[in-house]
Amino acid sequence: MCESRVLSVSHAKANFETTTIQRRDLRPEDVLIDIKYSGICHSDIHTAHGDWGAAIFPLVPGHEIAGVVQAVGSAVTKFAVGDRVGVGCYVDSCGECEYCQQDLEQFCTKGVVSTYNSLDYDGQPTHGGYSQKIVVTERFVVRIPDNLELDVASPLLCAGITTYSPLRHWNAGPGKKVAILGMGGLGHMAIQYAHALGAEVTVLSRSTDKKAEALSFGADHYYATSDSETFTTLAGRFDLILNTVSANLDVDAYLSLLRIDGTLVNVGAPSQPDQYHVFSLIMGRRSIAGSLVGGIRETQEMLDFSAEHNIKPQIEVISANQVDEAYERVLRSDVRYRFVIDIATLS
Ligand code: NAP
Ligand code: ZN
Repeated sequence: MCESRVLSVSHAKANFETTTIQRRDLRPEDVLIDIKYSGICHSDIHTAHGDWGAAIFPLVPGHEIAGVVQAVGSAVTKFAVGDRVGVGCYVDSCGECEYCQQDLEQFCTKGVVSTYNSLDYDGQPTHGGYSQKIVVTERFVVRIPDNLELDVASPLLCAGITTYSPLRHWNAGPGKKVAILGMGGLGHMAIQYAHALGAEVTVLSRSTDKKAEALSFGADHYYATSDSETFTTLAGRFDLILNTVSANLDVDAYLSLLRIDGTLVNVGAPSQPDQYHVFSLIMGRRSIAGSLVGGIRETQEMLDFSAEHNIKPQIEVISANQVDEAYERVLRSDVRYRFVIDIATLS
């Protein structure tokens, strides 16, 4: 067993405390990772606050993990000690079902094992990346390209893949008008990917505050959704709207911005159900869809694409004792655009 200091919460909405857990002994296919940086995703907050239902406590969040391989099991073939690696939202799947076979492990029919707040196939609770060490089967470890620093790489493991995957799946590219709704951790990555893929990119944010930065990330247009004229101006405009907002929205208002056959893809995951009127779909043959992170093969593709196109999150590195404050700041949308914990400060 390997001891690891972690940041954990003992119950919903509790403050973080530093505690110690044991990581499992290395199995033949396991990699022991010395974690250097761990991003803070809004999903960590939803989970720690009980927005999506009761969590498994004590909870150690974190699924944007970047570190260095410290040891490998006897059967590991892809990684060696010293390699720079990442782990995202999942740490195991059956590997055999039709979706695992198509590199869509997130939809594993046996049930994918989440990096935290999950039970692994032995029934043990999983603990995430607000931690010095993690042990993960090599199938769920990805390689971080040399020209991506580990701190900026960490948010790519969730915010990066969660936006890259739907933009690829719904063919964001030349000739497509794509709107990115909400400019937080996910949204600011989505702008960069949609731009790099060749789409015409519009940012829809609540205020005009983030306009200059949106344009610097590659947006072609920017509109404030607090301005009701926005909805008149943009009626029927988009092929695709990628909704990254963590709260409920007026779905009908956003559906009205789609062209015929346009799609509203939700990755933002508020706790309460959304509502919409079916006529908003019928009158334009429109679709509402959702997307969950991305598979491991595509996660590696996203990292390589990010390195090749110099796509990086804009981060604020914090120390372990600032996580409670960071959560409050994310809830106030006072983050530009991702907090990343320097795990060295956990020692
Ligand atoms: P974030 O950094 O907090 O960004 C969310 C953005 O939504 C904010 O920056 C803000 O953008 C907008 N927003 C927040 N509150 C709002 C409100 N009340 N009304 C309208 N807009 C509001 O969060 P994140 O880490 O990007 O995560 C976003 C959502 O995606 C969360 O619900 C998270 O759980 C979910 N998520 C889903 C997946 C998946 O696989 N589907 C993966 C990761 C995360 P503006 O200031 O620009 O308006
Ligand atoms: Zn996440």
